[in-house]
Amino acid sequence: MNPIYATMPTSVFEEISMLARKTGAINLGQGFPDGAGPLDIRQAAADAVLNGSNQYPPMMGTDRLRDAVADHYRRFHGLDATGSDILVTSGATEALSAALLALISPGDEVLLIQPMYDAYLPLVQRAGGVAKLVSMAPPDWRLPIEAIAAAISPRTRVILFNNPLNPIARVFDDGEIAALAELCVRRDLIALCDEVWEHVLFDGRQHLPLITAPGMRERTVKIGSAGKIFSLTGWKVGFVVAAPTLLAPIAKAHQFLTFTTPPNLQAAVAYGLGKEESYFEAMRGDYQRSRDRLTARLIAAGYAVLPSEGTYFLCIDLAASGIALGDRAFCLRAIEDAGVAAIPISAFYTENAPTSVIRLCFAKSDVVIDEAAERLAAFAQQVRN
Ligand code: PMP
Ligand code: GLN
Repeated sequence: MNPIYATMPTSVFEEISMLARKTGAINLGQGFPDGAGPLDIRQAAADAVLNGSNQYPPMMGTDRLRDAVADHYRRFHGLDATGSDILVTSGATEALSAALLALISPGDEVLLIQPMYDAYLPLVQRAGGVAKLVSMAPPDWRLPIEAIAAAISPRTRVILFNNPLNPIARVFDDGEIAALAELCVRRDLIALCDEVWEHVLFDGRQHLPLITAPGMRERTVKIGSAGKIFSLTGWKVGFVVAAPTLLAPIAKAHQFLTFTTPPNLQAAVAYGLGKEESYFEAMRGDYQRSRDRLTARLIAAGYAVLPSEGTYFLCIDLAASGIALGDRAFCLRAIEDAGVAAIPISAFYTENAPTSVIRLCFAKSDVVIDEAAERLAAFAQQVRN
């Protein structure tokens, strides 16, 4: 067995969801909405299963979806791309895997910013890369540009940048994006941008793709996922946007990972990407209302809730809430004693983890939010004593 896997724990999302299933706890851990998802998009998938092709689509993705992705990004983010700049993958996870396998040679350094999505480090290591970690810290979670600059060496090839950032729900601002772009250009880095949350932003925020910053078009690999754009997280339809010199090797890696992605889901995603702006606004509005609902109830129960600028998540600072338990201990006890599952933020760090912050998913119906908040309110009383 490869030693990376010998000692690796099961993903925290799977671990917590399994515990929630076993105990019947309300699962605010793993990030997925509890609704069925947009009917017209599911209908488009069903129609494609019944009436369209169910055989292998082209390795790069269907022309229809590749064009739809390019049109969508031009319309929403002013990105200059055509269908030939797009590769369709089986989720953002496969896109990340293919990109890291293709772009890293053994010994190359890859900059990772903690807190980081759990797949990043094992994928970098398995691709032969050497991870260089820098950290962000609560409560502001500002992009640590100076620490990033200091961590770059002549062997550094790639920086992996997740914006909006899961788990701490930050949307990086113009100044942070401009500073990162300037650094990538000056130090000749490839930016691997995980932007799966690009449409889930609140309070009128705009997504600023790093690829559209000056000097970044040719050195950025942008990754998106239909799962998050359409609240259908099980669909696993991802897309890569990159200039030909970057896209070609990534496509070579993709052809021997999954080769292709179900054609019916590609058809439905192509349909969905063409939807009016009002669909995306309504989706954001619904999640923002859920965010506000859970936040208000948690604050009323004495929890210190950190700002959530985007994603399906908000964080609680336990210490600032008067709770002395560590994040993991709190989460394990909350599943058993409160019947609510959450994710400890320390799971997104490999070193120097803060241990007092937990993540909750608010992409749930009002009834579920209210019940979970009530249980957490009672639990706070219990663990404060
Ligand atoms: N990156 C981030 C930051 C995520 O939050 C997720 C899942 N929510 C993924 C990648 C994986 O996306 P997919 O399900 O499309 O593989
Ligand atoms: N992205 C989801 C989250 O952050 C989890 C996806 C997974 O379970 N791998 O909760």
